[in-house]
Amino acid sequence: MMLRAFQLPRIDRLATVYVCHPIAKLTGWSEKYCVPVLTYHSISENLFGKVHPYHHINTPVSIFSLQMRWLRHAGYRTISLIELMNGFETTQDLSKTVVLTFDDGYQDFYSDAFPILKQCGFTATVFLATDRIRDESVRVEGADYLTWNEVRELQCEGITFGSHSVTHADLRSLGPEQIDYELGYSKETIEQRIGAHVDSFSYPFALPEEDGDFIRYLADTLENMGYSNGVSSAIGRAKPKDTRFFLPRLSVNSWDDLELLKAKLEGGYDWLHWPQWFYKFAHHNVALMAGRSFDQVGTR
Ligand SMILES: [Zn+2]
Repeated sequence: MMLRAFQLPRIDRLATVYVCHPIAKLTGWSEKYCVPVLTYHSISENLFGKVHPYHHINTPVSIFSLQMRWLRHAGYRTISLIELMNGFETTQDLSKTVVLTFDDGYQDFYSDAFPILKQCGFTATVFLATDRIRDESVRVEGADYLTWNEVRELQCEGITFGSHSVTHADLRSLGPEQIDYELGYSKETIEQRIGAHVDSFSYPFALPEEDGDFIRYLADTLENMGYSNGVSSAIGRAKPKDTRFFLPRLSVNSWDDLELLKAKLEGGYDWLHWPQWFYKFAHHNVALMAGRSFDQVGTR
């Protein structure tokens, strides 16, 4: 399984491992203040359909286990998003720290990911789309989701939970009232169910970072609702100057061999944020020119 990444020439991997990672190491880009926040989804063999490796959202247990053991042996320790923000504020040396995040709330986090994390002495934050978390496990598109009992059990073991909205909606397509519901009701539901404060939000789908008005509106709304930080799909390591509600992350899946994972952790993948941003910017402007309505942006 690990060999697959070598068999498929991926431009992003080649540029990262052989060009950008060596440059990042040479320049020593702010190791102390740049922290990798890794994004996982499902820890399973299920591929959720045939998609490009870049978009895979599963990591088989064997590969996840290898990645976690490598992290431990490389001397990494996990911190929470709250600890990350505190570290940024107090300019702590955050070398060899990593934040592990899991989006959506798949049941395999309970059955497969957590036992490995526990063995490695790691902790993590799981972001729940609360409509899919019930007293009995729900299956959506072939994937099983956590139950509230499992969530509470994991919380007792030190796992942190955040909101990933209620329905896993594309928030930019919604009006203000619906956005309030997705952000507010999911937070309220998790807090009621686990009896603890929810600090973090994970933006579902691609963050429309090219849309400054929407991003500011959403950040204000998150702050007003009592969130203190959040993560997004923007590529890169988290830095003190990042907007705290949309921290960039590094997506990891079954295609990440250890060389690519190491490069990502050490800043070799951060360059991809530029093509990602340019793609979004171009797409946004083409859509505007094609007459698609973004009227709501100004009123949010
Ligand atoms: Zn998601």
